[in-house]
Amino acid sequence: MAAAPAVDQEKTGLGNYFIANYPPFSFWKPTNLPAANEALNRAPVPGTPLGLYLHIPFCRKRCKFCYFRVYTDKNAREIEVYTDALTKEVELLSKLPVIGGRHLHYVYFGGGTPSYLSAAQLRELMTRLRAIMPWDQAEEVTFECEPGTLQQHKLETLREMGVSRLSLGVENFKPEILKYNGRAHLEEEIHRAFGWARDLGFPQINIDLIAGMVGEDWDNWKVCVEKTIAMGPDSVTIYQMELPYNTVFSKELKILGNDEPTMAVADWPTKRAWVDYAFSEFVKAGYSISSAYTVVKSKEKTKFVYRDALWHGADMFGTGVASFGQVNGVHLQNVDQWEQYLEKLDRNELPLGRALPVTPRESLIREMILQIKTGRLDLGYFQSKFAVNILKEFEPQFRKLEEDGWLKTTSDSVEVTRPGLLQIDRQLPIFFDSQFKSERYT
Ligand code: SF4
Repeated sequence: MAAAPAVDQEKTGLGNYFIANYPPFSFWKPTNLPAANEALNRAPVPGTPLGLYLHIPFCRKRCKFCYFRVYTDKNAREIEVYTDALTKEVELLSKLPVIGGRHLHYVYFGGGTPSYLSAAQLRELMTRLRAIMPWDQAEEVTFECEPGTLQQHKLETLREMGVSRLSLGVENFKPEILKYNGRAHLEEEIHRAFGWARDLGFPQINIDLIAGMVGEDWDNWKVCVEKTIAMGPDSVTIYQMELPYNTVFSKELKILGNDEPTMAVADWPTKRAWVDYAFSEFVKAGYSISSAYTVVKSKEKTKFVYRDALWHGADMFGTGVASFGQVNGVHLQNVDQWEQYLEKLDRNELPLGRALPVTPRESLIREMILQIKTGRLDLGYFQSKFAVNILKEFEPQFRKLEEDGWLKTTSDSVEVTRPGLLQIDRQLPIFFDSQFKSERYT
């Protein structure tokens, strides 16, 4: 039997729910930068894959729920200055001992809105980047798109440049909901962009949806799921709407003097019910659930190399303003201010802002709480990589989660139940070591 959660936990309050990394970001500090530099100047651990994340921080307008470092006011000259700096950053990284002769295993263009750049800007940027750090051998090159910024020739450029996984930020189909939540695109742009991408033969197309955008209801959510199934993407990622601090919505709530987001933000049980419904409909249509947020058309063919590599401890250079990365057992984040980022690169310095060296135990917990989001933990993996029987090491935590109905343990695995999967992020702090439990996560 699942335990009944406290009522106040069920409202969508201000703050983050999603757990993206461990230890929490609030513990990453500038004072740890010497450890970051040391890690970058050391040879890699043999067999560790290397990835590259590139942050393109421009958007047509700011979505009201967005808390990312994005700019909506930069002109073509400023974009050129930024992409020059980004290229310089990749060049500086490419010369470091941590590369150790590795080729890139995965590349991810995220944002912001990478597709905000013109086809010409993208061609130039990607040509320069590939000359410094080729991605011909990469298993996956992902590119995030906002449907309203795509034209056929831009997609042709991306295909030519080796993009293999296109991720379309659809979020919802209803014009009023898109508009009210500050999304810049229109429904017809979604269908047009998807059609072009299919015609161009991108190996994988993902669609992002958000359950619980302001103004959402059951009828419309069902229509969103139906329309997505009809399009037939290779994978669908569904996030549950959060109301982080420092968003337009959170400020609007403060202006109203109201900490209780009453403006038609669904509560957590409703959002979970929407994701549960979507999962069931996708499964009926032949998809499989591959994580707490993702369904895939074919588990064999549809990989998500970026996610799986990161969740299994791969290295990654996080480039661009405010980007996150990890190398040789150290978490890194770049400075999060535009001027500072550009100034550091102008001086030929890596734009590092803060870091955290990660102990083997923290790496183990990190991988465990990330991999559990796939709905399953393979005990043999942790035994062979960390020489730890996680069921024994975290016996009270697993027992509590099993008693509450969120998972089942077997002799060789942990299997997360569907209700457990739908609220997995809420359960993860139980595994945090005590010093990381109290502070704010971000
Ligand atoms: S498109 Fe994405 S990054 Fe840009 S404002 Fe909206 S949510 Fe934020």
